[in-house]
Amino acid sequence: MFTFWDRDLLFPRPCDVVIIGGGFTGMSAAITIKRYRPSWHVVVVESEATGTLASSRNAGFICLGSPTELMRDIQNHGLPVVEELLQWKIQGASILLHYLKKTKLIYAKSVGYEIFSSETPEPEGLDDHLNTLNGLMRAAGGPVPYYMRFMQAPKGWYPGVHQSSWVKMNWEGQLHPAAAVAQLRLQFQNLGGVISTHQPVDSLAFDPSGVFLQSQSETLRARQVLLASNAFVPRLMPDIKIDAHRAQVMITEPLGKIPFRGNVHFREGYMYARDVGQRLLIGGGRFLDFEGEKTDQLGTTNGIQAYLTDQLSMLTGIPVEDLPVADQWSGIMGFTPARLAPILEVKNQGMLVVAAGMNGMGTALGPYIGKKAAELLIQEREGRSIHLPQPGFFPLTPKKRR
Ligand SMILES: Cc1cc2nc3c(=O)[nH]c(=O)nc-3n(C[C@H](O)[C@H](O)[C@H](O)COP(=O)(O)OP(=O)(O)OC[C@H]3O[C@@H](n4cnc5c(N)ncnc54)[C@H](O)[C@@H]3O)c2cc1C
Repeated sequence: MFTFWDRDLLFPRPCDVVIIGGGFTGMSAAITIKRYRPSWHVVVVESEATGTLASSRNAGFICLGSPTELMRDIQNHGLPVVEELLQWKIQGASILLHYLKKTKLIYAKSVGYEIFSSETPEPEGLDDHLNTLNGLMRAAGGPVPYYMRFMQAPKGWYPGVHQSSWVKMNWEGQLHPAAAVAQLRLQFQNLGGVISTHQPVDSLAFDPSGVFLQSQSETLRARQVLLASNAFVPRLMPDIKIDAHRAQVMITEPLGKIPFRGNVHFREGYMYARDVGQRLLIGGGRFLDFEGEKTDQLGTTNGIQAYLTDQLSMLTGIPVEDLPVADQWSGIMGFTPARLAPILEVKNQGMLVVAAGMNGMGTALGPYIGKKAAELLIQEREGRSIHLPQPGFFPLTPKKRR
């Protein structure tokens, strides 16, 4: 419940833009607008703390796509669509790293691996596929060679898992996701932006003068709204098709010896594991119960958690009983019907922009889509085409192309 003081601080006048949702997408949009339109009163309204349903609780991989994941996407959607998505992720990762200022403890440069085993065998014609993917990466403005195949596990790795081959991805990032969201929040507030947390928006109404947002007992007024609540968009706009899917992860206690360093992917991106200091984190396993995990309720299940521990044991050779679990949790992702490109739409005569449905790839994708959403909001308000500069550059991009 707000007092006069709260209202005076947060909403001293009708807002220029209210952003619903303070995850990677919403915060990137918020920072972009304040950077380029500093006089606008921009408020991020969050039902929880910022990004608590996905961005700040995710697994912390900044990745462009593992080979089998991209091959499946090419098969389902064709090369041009996947190339464009790759371009967006490269630009999104660059924007994110720029805003995080590559701060130690928030971001670490790493590498990725896709591993093949008897359970997940190498696809036929892998070398040809990798050539295609490296071509795609070049076309999308990324570094090449990016995907590199080799037959032996890197030094120090447990040998049991790699019965056929490995693909190394030349760069992937590792984030502390909660610290990353906190850093974005700080950047936005330093630019004069306002954040109101624990304030779910319950409904939106439009009239020619602007948007009315009902939130508990408060009615907020804004000229424009950005809906960046990802999986929760349909609660406010039921005609927008985004499904909520839960993702579960677990992290171990610190281990004496870390059997691998880097980001590991298998099963077409459905499984992922990484080091976190002296701990290991693993996530995925939705395919064990697709129907049960199609939910917007947080929670973990014994079946998936047991599978995650088994897979970590398989990957590292460490017996299950020697992988002490420190924490297990879940978050909610938003999936569009095509499961690839997110939704970025202008609605209600430019008073509403929807930027949501990151299809489980929002760490890299969200910051790009957020920037595009900011451009659309400014464009609609000012009635002219807007292309704002791209902040940052991709970590491996050669100097001459910066
Ligand atoms: C466990 C887990 C692991 C993942 N791992 C990775 C990974 O390693 N790499 C990767 O790229 N992606 C990963 N993802 C996906 C990634 O986290 C998401 O794609 C990304 O965070 C989406 O960002 P967003 O800003 O669009 O949405 P969100 O982060 O979901 O932000 C939306 C915000 O809107 C708020 N909200 C919802 N409804 C309302 C309302 N009515 N009023 C006000 N606020 C509202 C929510 O509280 C939420 O904070 C993972 C997801 C999960 C759940």
